[in-house]
Amino acid sequence: MAKTKTAFFCQNCGAQFPKWVGKCTSCNEWNTIVEEIIQKESRGHDRNWKSSESTKRVSRALKINEIETTLEDRINTNNKELNRVLGGGIVKGSVVLLGGEPGIGKSTLILQIALLMQNKVLYVSGEESQSQIKLRAERLDGTNENCLILTETKTQNIFKSIEENNPDVVVIDSIQTLHTDYIEASPGSISQIRETTAELIKFAKETNTPVVLIGHITKEGSIAGPKILEHMVDVVLQFEGDRNHTYRILRAQKNRFGSTAELGIYEMLNTGLREVNNPSEILISEKDSDLTGTAISATLEGMRPLMIEVQALVSTAVYGTPQRSSTGYNIKRLNMLLAVLEKRAGFRLGAKDVFLNIAGGLKVEDPAIDLAVVCAILSSNEDISIAQNVSFAAEVGLSGEIRAVTRIEQRILEAEKLGFDKIILSKFNKIAKKNYQIEIIKVSKIEDVVRVLF
Ligand SMILES: [Zn+2]
Repeated sequence: MAKTKTAFFCQNCGAQFPKWVGKCTSCNEWNTIVEEIIQKESRGHDRNWKSSESTKRVSRALKINEIETTLEDRINTNNKELNRVLGGGIVKGSVVLLGGEPGIGKSTLILQIALLMQNKVLYVSGEESQSQIKLRAERLDGTNENCLILTETKTQNIFKSIEENNPDVVVIDSIQTLHTDYIEASPGSISQIRETTAELIKFAKETNTPVVLIGHITKEGSIAGPKILEHMVDVVLQFEGDRNHTYRILRAQKNRFGSTAELGIYEMLNTGLREVNNPSEILISEKDSDLTGTAISATLEGMRPLMIEVQALVSTAVYGTPQRSSTGYNIKRLNMLLAVLEKRAGFRLGAKDVFLNIAGGLKVEDPAIDLAVVCAILSSNEDISIAQNVSFAAEVGLSGEIRAVTRIEQRILEAEKLGFDKIILSKFNKIAKKNYQIEIIKVSKIEDVVRVLF
């Protein structure tokens, strides 16, 4: 028996150190270094997933035009929202990490999808017993007779079960509960997470079986603990939302097989997660017509147009320094727009508190929401409401100019579809099609918008 070997790992980024240090030199975080036992068995390299013939093949360099391109082979999840975020289904042999805060509904989402799929799924849980999972499955709709449930945390036993059952998809709930025989550290430690993930990746690549890993996320927003996990897998999905709200958003942070701009929206019901195929309807809250401080923007998330409600509250600062707070919208951009309003349009906002919120818990990065942000702030500041039938889609520049945005026709159509009568956009946006029902109002400066609205 070899003597116990340990190493020091940063719990934030996964960097390894020979001795303890106060500050991680890799990610510059303080007090994140923890000693972990890594004593490996002497059997050497044939641990993990058994080596198959395919890996012993030596690969040969090919001329680029000799390489045959084939579309990735994908498995349909029978869930439109998930398929869209993945870029059209789970790619065979890929490893997908689904991250999210504990309790947000990750297990429910994956179990539901396992029950809806046509394929044989092995659902491995280290968190719940088989009967607990069965009880949860009974609440969900979908009955996949080929959905197998295994309660296990040791990877060697999981691989044994995989060999017996030969599933099309393997689900691990969660990666933080797994451990491998070859490492002594406790489950959830950096070295265990790294090793067990490496074993699963090796398994996925050699057998062409996709693996979905569920991972819990720390408050800071990274998968607990190491960011290294995000680099190892092919796809990182984030499941987010407010536990007090019923809506959940699934987005791709990384996707080797598709775009990261796509987004899936679900509603959490007693019977599981309902796909929301027309999200605009839910993102606009019901309100009385005379409420001030709200404006609706036609934005795009990925290829998908969404009507999003911006809410602003402007009030006189009680304390010396005015507060600026923003949820779902970049705070720096908010400060910039406030400076533009002050300098270019003459609104005195310097001594006011400004609070901004994007309804529905969304985070919006589309610059086309700028004009709605400006108008919501002005509406609250002037205490005049914006008519409910008006929507916005334009970027605001540093000199107060209203700028054109991409794919304007899609935005106009979405606003029209949802029954808006007017859409305000930049006069620089060229619109090919002419016969819209909705009235298109073109503006070039903030003053123009103020004239139109108030
Ligand atoms: Zn670090």
